[in-house]
Amino acid sequence: MELLAIHGVGDVRVDSYQRPAAGPKDVVVKMKAVGICGSDLSYIKFGGMPAEPGGTTALGHEGAGEVLSVGSEVDGISVGDAVIINPMMTPSNIGSGGPEGCFTQELLVREARLGDSILPIPEGISYEVAALCEPLAVAMHGVNRAEVSPGDKVVVFGCGPIGLGMLLWLNDRGITDVIALDLSEERLERARAIGVQAAFDPTKVDLRAEIAKYHGEVPSYGRVGVGTDAFIDAAGGPNILTDVIMMAKWHSRMVVTAAYMKPIEFPVGRMLTSEMTITTAVGYPTEMPDVIAAMPRLKDKLAALISHRVPFAEVLEGFKLAARPDSAKVMVDFEGA
Ligand SMILES: [Zn+2]
Repeated sequence: MELLAIHGVGDVRVDSYQRPAAGPKDVVVKMKAVGICGSDLSYIKFGGMPAEPGGTTALGHEGAGEVLSVGSEVDGISVGDAVIINPMMTPSNIGSGGPEGCFTQELLVREARLGDSILPIPEGISYEVAALCEPLAVAMHGVNRAEVSPGDKVVVFGCGPIGLGMLLWLNDRGITDVIALDLSEERLERARAIGVQAAFDPTKVDLRAEIAKYHGEVPSYGRVGVGTDAFIDAAGGPNILTDVIMMAKWHSRMVVTAAYMKPIEFPVGRMLTSEMTITTAVGYPTEMPDVIAAMPRLKDKLAALISHRVPFAEVLEGFKLAARPDSAKVMVDFEGA
């Protein structure tokens, strides 16, 4: 067996691997499809989070596969079941600092529980669409935190896999006045394919004027704000917060899902007259079952989020593709590998 692991800053390798023996509370899943995540790329940049100094960090938290063995004390899960792994609901922090990662042929899921860390894949859903569950749940949580409803005007910064997922959920909830922003024309094209009011590069226009063109303007305590109800930051640009605060209307909302690595300055004083709310969203405390329930209805749109497919034997090549600004989700395929 093999396992993809980080050995140091910028140093990721496919190691030969001996999966630990499964206990009575554990399940082993034969991996079929695993997505490469932006956070995997971040982990590699800062050298991972090894449990011991000089140790390695196993990668992969967006996995789907077929149950290979089931411990005697596990209820409701059978050999052969097609399942999605919820890494947030396992005690072993799969792919985010724990001993196991999904980029392996056989994943040990410790203390597996049906409906919690192990979720059944609906009939007719491919493993690669199933493996999109994790990033789609992150995206849904960001949209849920924005507390939007039909009729609201929304701006989404960033059309990578998470931003595109957000556009998809906004569209699915009947929110039509959505502006998508990204620097990459390929990503903007994908946003347009999902269905948005407008999609453009914010650095090539007067951003405030362009947003006002679509969302209108409203008086806001002696100044004029744009009509946007909610801004969602899935990009992490250093000037996004400042730009939003300067144009935000009274009682608008902003949700930050991007990972800011450095502290940033922003004009808190200007927020006084908008009484706007800025909050964050991370992970997916409750969203995975809702994402899975939507899969049969949205499976073709979901499959369109995958820009590249690579076999596990070429996983390192896949990471290079995922780092390119024009890619969307890069899916690693274990079938026949
Ligand atoms: Zn992820």
